[in-house]
Amino acid sequence: MIFLALTFKGGTHLKQYKNTKKFPIEKMTPPSEISISMSQHIGAPCVPTVNVGDYVFQGQIIGEPAENSGCPIHASVSGKIKAITSYKDMQGRHIQTVVIENDGKYELSPNIIPTAKKLTEVTSEEIIEIVRRAGILGMGGAAFPTYAKIQSAIGKAEKLIVNCAECEPFITADHRLMLERPLEIINGTKILLKAIGSRKAYIAIEDNKMDAVEKLEEKIGKSQMIKMKILRSKYPQGDERQLVYAITKKEIPSGKLPTDVGCVVFNAETCAAVFRAFVYGMPSIEKIVTVSGDAVTTPKNVLAPIGASYRDLISFCDGLKKDPRKLICGGPMMGTAQSDLDAPITKGTSALLVFSDEMCHEEDENYTCIRCGRCVNTCPMRLMPNYLAQFSRNGRYEDCEKYDVMSCVECGTCSYSCPGHVPIVQHIRSAKEALRKKATSLPDLDKK
Ligand code: SF4
Ligand code: SF4
Repeated sequence: MIFLALTFKGGTHLKQYKNTKKFPIEKMTPPSEISISMSQHIGAPCVPTVNVGDYVFQGQIIGEPAENSGCPIHASVSGKIKAITSYKDMQGRHIQTVVIENDGKYELSPNIIPTAKKLTEVTSEEIIEIVRRAGILGMGGAAFPTYAKIQSAIGKAEKLIVNCAECEPFITADHRLMLERPLEIINGTKILLKAIGSRKAYIAIEDNKMDAVEKLEEKIGKSQMIKMKILRSKYPQGDERQLVYAITKKEIPSGKLPTDVGCVVFNAETCAAVFRAFVYGMPSIEKIVTVSGDAVTTPKNVLAPIGASYRDLISFCDGLKKDPRKLICGGPMMGTAQSDLDAPITKGTSALLVFSDEMCHEEDENYTCIRCGRCVNTCPMRLMPNYLAQFSRNGRYEDCEKYDVMSCVECGTCSYSCPGHVPIVQHIRSAKEALRKKATSLPDLDKK
């Protein structure tokens, strides 16, 4: 097959470590206790709608949004509510959780019923409500409510892009989904097209997953609505802005969204979740998580119940074979370091990585910029990361703002490329945090 892989400006080629790509998804036996976070999506958290001692069915709603926007949260197992408690996340916030004692019966909620209408008979509003009630969020890690994304795309997005790039090293969850359940992705895409009122979808996939390209092409057949687009494997190809550019050659202006250039992007697993909600009435209660890293005994792609802990996931992968030094939720480039093994997985957890000393390098406190310009050449957002790091280090946050620090997507390409070991992203995050605090701080009235 001859094709010209699409790409974007900047970016870098990363060592892949996708050693789990040949491992089929394994369904994890849910643990005896499940702890479901009431803060699954961007925005206000949900409030529990159950009390301690209540019996809940699998798939029953246990939390509803505190505000008008947002979607409900469901029980991933059946059993008794043991506690309503909280855990501390990495930002020090106390996140409310509903703890369910798993009775091992997995009795499905009687409210889980397939949609009675065919896709040709259903309205856009009806699909949006099905997606909202199923609690579906962007499953690539963004955790933005999918129903709200559909609403924002109506009348604006002519093109729907299915993000199958999966450009972070180690993560193979979407790759396995494409190989094992391609029809769920394709049919979910058709449902989303109907909801948005758009007629064109592109399944965008990197050229290091040609087995998945073949599988999806075979299932798409002669459809004129859905086409494959093959992308060059380059980081951060999965970033929405780079994806839209690679396919349409349109740049999304700073502060704008894909819908502002006529596109909307959904992750592959999100499309599959939409299909299951529409056809079976199944809410979002499971997540495919790649568990990997050199400290994990048996790396796997795991279909895990929402609310299982990191500890449960690791023990399903036969525990650790080396002393852990770093635990990361998500990919090594954009994921977040974790310290609590008892934290629960959420709908945005795409990977759990555990690294030993051998895979972690010491931070060099005597780092220095040698003015090589590599960070500037590789930044996909065309920023000046070297200046941003320098300004931030010196507390010159207004200068960071002038140099558009808020447009940084924190992809980490600059830090990865830097021969001087400058912790560029760390400096950028500090500057963004300082600017956000300044923007939300109240004026000092005494100084008037
Ligand atoms: S890549 Fe590192 S050393 Fe090179 S200009 Fe950027 S900050 Fe300086
Ligand atoms: S400055 Fe931001 S957007 Fe640019 S490479 Fe660095 S982390 Fe990525």
